[in-house]
Amino acid sequence: MVVGDIATGTEVLVIGGGPGGYVAAIRAAQEGLDTTLVERDAYGGACLNRGCIPSKALITGSGLAHEAGNAEFMGVHADPAVDMGKMVEWKDGVVDQLTSGVEKLCKANGVNLVPGTASFVDEHTARVAHGGEGQGSESIEFEHAVVATGSRPIQIPGFDFAEDHVWSSAEALDADTVPDRIGIVGGGYIGMELATTYAKLGAEVTVVEMLDDILQPYEDDVKRIVRKRAEELGVEFHFGEGASEWSEAADGGYLLHTETEDGEESTYGVDKILVAVGRQPVTDGLDPENAGIETDDRGFIETDDRTRTAVEHIHAVGDVAGEPMLAHAASNEGIVAAEVIAGEPAALDQQAIPAAVFTDPEIGTVGLTEAEAEAEGFDPVVGEMPFNASGRAMTTGHTEGFVRLVADEETGFVLGGQIVGPEASELVAEIALAIEMGATLEDVAATVHTHPTLAEAVMEAAENARGQAIHTLNR
Ligand SMILES: Cc1cc2nc3c(=O)[nH]c(=O)nc-3n(C[C@H](O)[C@H](O)[C@H](O)COP(=O)(O)OP(=O)(O)OC[C@H]3O[C@@H](n4cnc5c(N)ncnc54)[C@H](O)[C@@H]3O)c2cc1C
Repeated sequence: MVVGDIATGTEVLVIGGGPGGYVAAIRAAQEGLDTTLVERDAYGGACLNRGCIPSKALITGSGLAHEAGNAEFMGVHADPAVDMGKMVEWKDGVVDQLTSGVEKLCKANGVNLVPGTASFVDEHTARVAHGGEGQGSESIEFEHAVVATGSRPIQIPGFDFAEDHVWSSAEALDADTVPDRIGIVGGGYIGMELATTYAKLGAEVTVVEMLDDILQPYEDDVKRIVRKRAEELGVEFHFGEGASEWSEAADGGYLLHTETEDGEESTYGVDKILVAVGRQPVTDGLDPENAGIETDDRGFIETDDRTRTAVEHIHAVGDVAGEPMLAHAASNEGIVAAEVIAGEPAALDQQAIPAAVFTDPEIGTVGLTEAEAEAEGFDPVVGEMPFNASGRAMTTGHTEGFVRLVADEETGFVLGGQIVGPEASELVAEIALAIEMGATLEDVAATVHTHPTLAEAVMEAAENARGQAIHTLNR
């Protein structure tokens, strides 16, 4: 113990108050365990403060402005003006409400909240430094621990986030003015969500991507629709190019320099550069090795299907434990960790974890694609419903995209689904439920859906897979 420390004890120590950590802490307390949650920054983690929630707030705001200004075909004439300062203020209000809600929920469930940075001293002791000089520190003895320290944006050489014009996603979500020109490095989901947002807010957006397409994990026909729409919004793409450096331009802006694998160089004039090339685990200052916790060569903490690290009484959940780096996966892992600690027979046994990209149009995917199903030895059957055959989609003015269902031909069990189109992030939940419940195509097709809704497209896709579609031609 460091001289001047106070010493306390807890049954469960949770390190990090994001969607992995705060959910683990609440569930552990609900299980009757004495639980302490240490957070060094703001409750809610990246998700509430710099990720899911702020990005979705700006996506809604920019989408509303864009829609209103482009609805002449419906007879709506408007020329909306965006006050970015006000939009960011509104977004901050949403974030504040949610983060203070997390704090209240933790307290109401009896979680002991400790502000500060935790590091392991040994496998049963952590030290918490209470930020700022003279704030002191404490040693906490624990029986079990849950590491939920999350992730941060990857910085690439030559592009320092400390520079005013080099943004990570965090700065892109806090800007109270819209830059005239923004260069985005990386066409992954964060880069593409922000590309769409800024294009709708009126910025000239240039995306440079080292690979030959955006949104690497998704199927070609899904990506094509999102890319085409982004191009319609004015986003310019340059594939096969990596950002190499930036320099100052004569016009007071900056030049973003790129290079192909063959050494071919290009230059783009920009005012801000957003680097969105992925996220890396946060374990610095945590000293996991003092507790015997092992990390892989990229720094992620290795865990088993019960979220346990190599040290059985220490668990790791969320982004710090690797893919899928999604808020709902982090929370699910947090619940499993707490229940395992409480002695319950919990494990990570979800059949499928959905993912969504909030571009225009949205993407929602869950489970297996047709190719993955084949690779896993299934004989897949596929059904589709295009949104241009959906009455509800037509009444919203958004008819791009489709719902695709993948099922096992022999048993009819739903194995996966890919949706690109309006409200795909919401609709995918129906397919996730079908997979989790072991539903067959017949179950989905026989479930009466409200008319007119977008969700009917899921039912129609199931009917299409069975050769019984009414509103589309059967495959
Ligand atoms: C722009 C953006 C958009 C996103 N959109 C989505 C989305 O739409 N849907 C989705 O599912 N996911 C989205 N994500 C991903 C999502 O934010 C993460 O998957 C999620 O936040 C991970 O939760 P976590 O609890 O593992 O970690 P985090 O949310 O990163 O929380 C970790 C917490 O631990 C704290 N901490 C770290 N080290 C210590 C320490 N030593 N002591 C004390 N505290 C510590 C940090 O301050 C932080 O609060 C998005 C991310 C970004 C950046």
